[in-house]
Amino acid sequence: MRQVRPARGRRVTKAYAVALALALAANAGAANDKHKEEDAETARQACLQIAARLASVRSSDCAGRGLRATGDYSVKGRPILEKIYPPVFPRKPQARVLLLGGIHGDELSSVSIVFKWMRILDKYHSGLFHWKVVPALNPDGLLRRNAQRTNANGVDLNRNFPTPDWKKRALGDYWIRRTGRSPRRYPGPAPLSEPEAYWLAKEIERFRPDVIVSVHAPYGVVDFDGPPHGPKRLGRLHLNLLGTYPGSLGNYAGVQMNIPVVTIELKHAGIMPKEREIRRIWVDLVRWIKRNIPKDTPPVYTGLQAYMKDLEDRKESRKN
Ligand SMILES: [Zn+2]
Repeated sequence: MRQVRPARGRRVTKAYAVALALALAANAGAANDKHKEEDAETARQACLQIAARLASVRSSDCAGRGLRATGDYSVKGRPILEKIYPPVFPRKPQARVLLLGGIHGDELSSVSIVFKWMRILDKYHSGLFHWKVVPALNPDGLLRRNAQRTNANGVDLNRNFPTPDWKKRALGDYWIRRTGRSPRRYPGPAPLSEPEAYWLAKEIERFRPDVIVSVHAPYGVVDFDGPPHGPKRLGRLHLNLLGTYPGSLGNYAGVQMNIPVVTIELKHAGIMPKEREIRRIWVDLVRWIKRNIPKDTPPVYTGLQAYMKDLEDRKESRKN
């Protein structure tokens, strides 16, 4: 008896455990599905706001096409949206590419063109690269009645990244002395003070892009930071190095972390290039990445990791 009972007991326990696990999994699955649905709806609504603002973005760009909420938000609580074009098994992507639009809210074309390029990827993503696309990094600036360069706190996100000696160089030398405290170029009270910039820095750490492409306007050139050498030409835009600003993404990711940063400066902030030119820039960009981003040389992330850890520690110690 003694041998049977425990055996039966075990069986019962096991059967019960299996049933319980299945029930829990079903529940968790349902909860997950519900979360996914809510996330999808959050993303759709946020995207529709952008579509209402920009003539080139269609409401169909927002429907069931994989655009998702990252779970992080702008100052005003708008979700930061992203879309992933993942590896296509069994092909190993040649590079991870982070594509960003609208870090400056009043450069409307930089958001519109990223949506257009997503339509190309929707159709032709082949697994050549693993893409993470963030069409509008500064939704508050974009969606204001009068779109503005800065975020809702009046900070130029492209000066808010933690480059060396930030306080002296970004705040003092650059903003106070060089721009005369231009409100359009305020780098913020501290590096990564802004949720949008903080999210991007964390995302670079998580995603570890081999190359970052950031779209701006209206200088009509290609700018480049980091190794090796920038593309000489993308469409009609020619390479013209604009200089590296303290606190900028190009300085932070390109110079400090050795991740190539291609900055595409479209000609006009409020007028889109012609369809042909939009495709041309895209084709040239993809070709340049394919030829120039080596496969197995991961960029240097150690500096960033140390910095982020330090930041987390400081936050923790403030809490305690
Ligand atoms: Zn810009």
